[in-house]
Amino acid sequence: MAYDPNNIFAKILRKEIPCSSLYEDPFALAFNDIHPKAPVHVLVIPKGAYVSADDFYADASPEEVTGFYRAVAKVLKDLNLEDGYRLLSNCGVNAGQEVPHFHIHILAGKKLGPMLAV
Ligand code: AMP
Repeated sequence: MAYDPNNIFAKILRKEIPCSSLYEDPFALAFNDIHPKAPVHVLVIPKGAYVSADDFYADASPEEVTGFYRAVAKVLKDLNLEDGYRLLSNCGVNAGQEVPHFHIHILAGKKLGPMLAV
């Protein structure tokens, strides 16, 4: 699937629409999810144009991958989620990915229940 430069996260990266930003560096941007599914619901996105985890792991440079995950780690440290958290990334139709720009969800702040709705 080709990258759509008009997806909502691309617009956020270009500052065309606002977000509730928590952290930014040359590799990543972290912001609060607009429809939080938990008391803490943060999205971390790479600066590069990658549709999903598939694209990111296949095509991102080692520097981009390292920089991105260091940013995830920095956000997690800053959030200080002593009672734990869940990381997830939806990829493609079966996972219900809504926004075609790779992102990691950080969910925390309550007991999150079973890993999957059944
Ligand atoms: P996914 O289904 O994994 O693609 O998740 C996309 C997430 O992006 C959802 O949790 C949405 O609530 C969130 N989202 C969509 N638009 C925005 C926005 N403008 N600012 C922050 N989060 C957004």
